[in-house]
Amino acid sequence: MKKLFSIFGDPVSHSRSPLMHNSVFKNLNYDACYTRTHLIDGTKLKETFFTLGLSGANVTVPHKEAAFNACDEVRGFGKKVGVVNTLVNENGKLIGYNTDADGFIYAISEFKNIRNILIIGAGGTAKALATRFLQDSLNVSVLNRSEGRLKYFKDLGCQCFDWKDFTISNYDLVVNTTSAGLKDEELPAPKEMIESILVHTSFVADAIYGKLTPFLQLAKEKGIIYKDGVDMLLGQGVLANELFVNATLKKEDIKYYMQKSFEL
Ligand code: NDP
Repeated sequence: MKKLFSIFGDPVSHSRSPLMHNSVFKNLNYDACYTRTHLIDGTKLKETFFTLGLSGANVTVPHKEAAFNACDEVRGFGKKVGVVNTLVNENGKLIGYNTDADGFIYAISEFKNIRNILIIGAGGTAKALATRFLQDSLNVSVLNRSEGRLKYFKDLGCQCFDWKDFTISNYDLVVNTTSAGLKDEELPAPKEMIESILVHTSFVADAIYGKLTPFLQLAKEKGIIYKDGVDMLLGQGVLANELFVNATLKKEDIKYYMQKSFEL
């Protein structure tokens, strides 16, 4: 029977996940289809997943923490971080995973000598990345618009700032994990702050993909090496697809056809 997969998010219309996963399914003759579901209320995730009869799903902004709570069981890194972006229906049970963090590590592998990282934003993606970076013994600072979400990062051992108390240091990499620039033209922090950050870093990355965000635009103007979230998207997508097909397809083939979908 044909399997059905979906991405859940709000907004979700921008998501490339359907194209990526369908490219793999179609080209590798895997009998499945991947769609998108606009979900406003994250507490309805589990109910919606099973009502749609899904075999698996991905979860994007702002429901990754709700996804963690919706799971019957969370495995691997997702369990450590409390954030889930991939769901698999295993005999009627909802099993959660996090493939974002390893997807991002794959994406920045071309940036060398990274020791000090500033993460802008303190949501689900920031949690996954901070936890993963600390696992590799990197120094992690976090800057967020508001103070509320910073406690988690303080407890992890990160240096934390909100916009009011930020003091500049030198960084090797600055990552925007906020949704500023996703559906608006905002910077992830006030312009003077971002400008001072950019003169103190070697590399810049944005989790947002498919557009040059105002943050990346500014980095480009300053001549800083930057990358958008496309490789992160690819990295997390390949790992998610492996879970969806339960490793019945080869990773190189999954990666090849996902990458191909970016040309569409
Ligand atoms: P969350 O909703 O969990 O967190 C959003 C964070 O952004 C919060 O810290 C929030 O701050 C901050 N924020 C939101 N709007 C603004 C703004 N206008 N200015 C400054 N800060 C802001 O989101 P996620 O972590 O799930 O996702 C974040 C982004 O990463 C999204 O754009 C998503 O598309 C992208 N992403 C891309 C992936 C890829 O594969 N390339 C994978 C995962 C995510 P506050 O606490 O003050 O509200």
